[in-house]
Amino acid sequence: MAGNMDFQQFNLTDEHQALREAVRALVTDKIAPRAAEVDETGEFPWDVYEALRGSGFHAIHIPEEYGGEGGDALAACLVIEEVARACTSSSLIPAVNKLGTMPLLVGGDEALLKTYLPQVASGEAMFSYALSEREAGSDAASMKTRAVASRDGWVLNGQKSWITNAGVSSYYTVMAVTDPDARARGISAFVVHADDPGFSLGTPERKLGIHGSPTREILFDDCWIPEDRIVGAPGTGFQTAMATLDHTRVTIGAQAVGIAQGALDVAAAYVKDRQQFGKPIAAFQGIQFMIADMAMKLEAARQLVYVAAAKSERQDPDLTFFGAAAKCFASDVAMEITTDAVQALGGAGYTRDWPVERYMRDAKITQIYEGTNQVQRIVMAKQVLGR
Ligand SMILES: Cc1cc2nc3c(=O)[nH]c(=O)nc-3n(C[C@H](O)[C@H](O)[C@H](O)COP(=O)(O)OP(=O)(O)OC[C@H]3O[C@@H](n4cnc5c(N)ncnc54)[C@H](O)[C@@H]3O)c2cc1C
Repeated sequence: MAGNMDFQQFNLTDEHQALREAVRALVTDKIAPRAAEVDETGEFPWDVYEALRGSGFHAIHIPEEYGGEGGDALAACLVIEEVARACTSSSLIPAVNKLGTMPLLVGGDEALLKTYLPQVASGEAMFSYALSEREAGSDAASMKTRAVASRDGWVLNGQKSWITNAGVSSYYTVMAVTDPDARARGISAFVVHADDPGFSLGTPERKLGIHGSPTREILFDDCWIPEDRIVGAPGTGFQTAMATLDHTRVTIGAQAVGIAQGALDVAAAYVKDRQQFGKPIAAFQGIQFMIADMAMKLEAARQLVYVAAAKSERQDPDLTFFGAAAKCFASDVAMEITTDAVQALGGAGYTRDWPVERYMRDAKITQIYEGTNQVQRIVMAKQVLGR
């Protein structure tokens, strides 16, 4: 909790630094050159997926015992940050693989972990996370999707909205109501397969940004799944879903930091080059102060995200506060920095000839998903005020 903070900081090891360099090299070679095209076409970048997979960066968080790289929470943040620095859509590959599998790591039994995690580690399957519904966004506990025990399994009916990577993921962690009288304590988590009978996809959403990351509804029409696909005990699904977000909000903070760094890189280079009134615009104090503020806010956001990542790794009791704070602060900062980057480029910034308008559009989603920043403030206030 905020009033009772653990001041132990993160430890950015030589291994972390080497990882950052390795991701940066891959991004420069394979991802940055594709970023504008991915945004323009709105197609899922399978070539980027394969490139990330080839280096184990598509799901670095999967523990070694399940065939993964065993990257810690800070390692996952570094991968997501460096990919987002060039292409936010692509950074959702490692981010959503973590989001989709985290409920299993938090609440699943050994059999589930052994069945699914190696497939994600090898890259043969991706995993999505399905909590939100049309009428249950911020108030996720009011969800209506039902799972009823039947024939040695569960029958699901209803829909989930805004599911990132729907259609490209093979597996979905789905939260559904098993006991309607118990509200949040009557929700359970399940693994649903894309080829389960009764599972289908809605049409792709047409979005402001993250065009290369598909967002679709997923629909359940008498969708039967075997009983061993429940994640943890019946009634623990909402708790698992919230515990998952404590960890993965940190990764959204990292994504926001990457987006902001990408925009600052472009703005800093541009203002040194662009001449007005007979000198580079970087010579004007008005521009210098803008760049200084961008760099200052970015570094504060980065430090907070890395501290939150260390807390995620250590399972510190104040992670709920820090996960919300890292996501909220970094995404608000990313929105400010990307907007200022467009301003620093003037008319050029407003065109698609430069990437800053894309960074600005992509930054917006980081203030909305995994709980809006209003919801993050509710979470933080509850932690501070103890309610
Ligand atoms: C591109 C995209 C990808 C997404 N990916 C996923 C995914 O993979 N899985 C998933 O489950 N969900 C996903 N989401 C859903 C996302 O988490 C929700 O959109 C978000 O939680 C907000 O819910 P809502 O859209 O229903 O907004 P609403 O809850 O209707 O909120 C509308 C506005 O009201 C405000 N508001 C609501 N309640 C309060 C309150 N108590 N106090 C103050 N303000 C409040 C909100 O902050 C917001 O500004 C995604 C959404 C988008 C757009």
